[in-house]
Amino acid sequence: MKINNNKLIYFDNASTTRASEEVLKVYNEVHLSSFANPSSIHKEGQRSFYQLNRSKEELLKVLKLNNHEVIYLSGATEANNLAIKGSALRYKNRGNHIITSSYEHPSVLEAFKQLETEFGFKVTYLNPNSDGLITSKEVESALTDKTILVSLMAVNNEIGSINPIEEISNLLEKYPKVIFHVDACQAIGKLEKEINYSKVDLLTISGHKIHGLVGFGALIKKKKIELLPLNSGGGQEYGYRSGTEDLANALALLQSVKDIVNKEKEHYDHVSLLADKLFSYLNSRKDLYELNVPNPINPYIINFSTINRKGSVVVEALSNNNIMVSSTSACHSSKEKGSYVVKALGKEDKISNNTIRVSLDYTNTMEEIDIFISTLDKIIGEIR
Ligand code: PMP
Repeated sequence: MKINNNKLIYFDNASTTRASEEVLKVYNEVHLSSFANPSSIHKEGQRSFYQLNRSKEELLKVLKLNNHEVIYLSGATEANNLAIKGSALRYKNRGNHIITSSYEHPSVLEAFKQLETEFGFKVTYLNPNSDGLITSKEVESALTDKTILVSLMAVNNEIGSINPIEEISNLLEKYPKVIFHVDACQAIGKLEKEINYSKVDLLTISGHKIHGLVGFGALIKKKKIELLPLNSGGGQEYGYRSGTEDLANALALLQSVKDIVNKEKEHYDHVSLLADKLFSYLNSRKDLYELNVPNPINPYIINFSTINRKGSVVVEALSNNNIMVSSTSACHSSKEKGSYVVKALGKEDKISNNTIRVSLDYTNTMEEIDIFISTLDKIIGEIR
């Protein structure tokens, strides 16, 4: 079934984004002009080292963080692993209770599972409320005198819910033994109101969610927090992430963060208009779709389920029409049947097994939304 056979419409920006020209330019230039190993003691090596440190200072400035330092690594998966296992194992003599939520990214859930099964930690998995949120009240009631770590995402990658990170970090400030880690890779540069992360101990960001490059990100750590390194080696990145430093990627990441943060408001207004149009269509066909949209609404990630149609068949038909959306998150879509995230909202299987995620970006247009709506409408009409 082919309806739209024109240009590619890419509505899967929560999975990854296209690298920007500016980012690619920085990356190429650095590889050609500042390729010396930042750990070499000669002049060129020292120049690379200086640039690497400058990139960290600038990154912290853009994110308005003063008491933190930057550990560059291969992306959010590695950052989450280092944050969670590195802190829990480092501070295990203070307590063995750790807290996360049931709708985190697999890189968080699997790290917790490993700490539970291999290292004997007790894990509390908080469930989101019907608005898709983990409240500070819920966090508070889960705390015990054995709790050493709370890890929660800022924005959920499947349903777009925006957790009250500032409120939770204010709460956890009163519990100095508890480390607070936040996976913010879907939040940076994509919110109506910027989150203040200054009280967060460990913060995960990733380049490719914001028009940077796949395979690079950072764990931003409060200076006073220590971690058990997960890989041993030459001691780069304050000993937390050995391996030759990657200056080109560091400067490319900085470029992507600067670009997205500086235009956050402008992008948000544009994406909101696109999302509004899509919402009015979906709301006008309640016989066909159920919205899995949390409150407050995040226009960047719109999740709905098809009623009486298989979600995966609709996603495939959209793809055949050159429109790319996801059924769940790209990270587990081939392994699992339904969405554990939507299931965690308390929805029935027929809803959580038929989810469609449209994840928008400032590069998308109203014309694309119009084509998406008319193509979806026709596909739904033709599938039985
Ligand atoms: N956390 C969240 C919330 C994500 O959306 C993703 C990407 N799907 C990741 C972590 C993993 O990111 P990366 O590809 O940089 O490892």
